Amino acid sequence: MKKSKQIGFYRSILTLKCPSCRQENMFKKRGLFVYHNPLDMHENCSQCGQKYEIEPGFWIGALWASYPIVVIIETPFLFTAIASESLNVWYTYGLMILAFGVFFPLMVRLGRSIWAHIFIKFRG
Ligand SMILES: [Zn+2]
Repeated sequence: MKKSKQIGFYRSILTLKCPSCRQENMFKKRGLFVYHNPLDMHENCSQCGQKYEIEPGFWIGALWASYPIVVIIETPFLFTAIASESLNVWYTYGLMILAFGVFFPLMVRLGRSIWAHIFIKFRG
């Protein structure tokens, strides 16, 4: 049997693939920037049958995986505000909220993908 092209661990996370087979998309819509229902996922993988929410409340833990992504995106705004003497603090807050809105789908989708790849074993 010919095996289809296998992708690596990190690429699988970034492309939001099933952590078990790395073939199928976990989310119904592809891509990191999906603004309409960004957390709309398949229940199981159509290729290997892997259930994504392996236990009740599993995705709550994904917030821990999202947290560093939020910090990485928001920190430059904070340091810019600290370094700049002329920048208004409310202007900086506004930019941070805007950045949060723009990057929200990436934060939550990537967070879930990382979390799933940590806890669901790759079976090829
Ligand atoms: Zn799969």
